[in-house]
Amino acid sequence: MSETIKTKLSEYALKIVVLIFPIAPLTIALWFQGSLIPFIGQITDLVLLRILTALLLVIAALISYIIYIRPWLSWHEPTGTWLSLFSSIRYCAKCHADNKQVPLKNEITGWRCMVCARFYSDPIRVAQKKMEEEKTTSKRRTSKYLERI
Ligand SMILES: [Zn+2]
Repeated sequence: MSETIKTKLSEYALKIVVLIFPIAPLTIALWFQGSLIPFIGQITDLVLLRILTALLLVIAALISYIIYIRPWLSWHEPTGTWLSLFSSIRYCAKCHADNKQVPLKNEITGWRCMVCARFYSDPIRVAQKKMEEEKTTSKRRTSKYLERI
């Protein structure tokens, strides 16, 4: 098995564990609900309010953490930019390191950040432009050669 397949499998395994992990306590609580009900009946309103407040704080902290790590952005290795999974908009890597999200302006052979003026070239478009230039130069050479004859 190649390294890329192993890496992909480990990524998917980690995602599955992350998805199952929050469900596990709820499943355990439902599994043992018969033995938990007598204990829940003894909980006073004040303790119940504190438990609900703690749960709300944990949920708010998790949402803040998810917003902070921005899982909807993925690193695009060939261009060195951050790519949004929802909108396919690219973001500047330098500004991202400074905790700023700056969308990149699309130019002929790549993208430019309008804040720090850094240019990120697109290898595909650069290769296409080189091929077009080679075609035009070869056509000029052939036409010049034919003019001489
Ligand atoms: Zn920038």
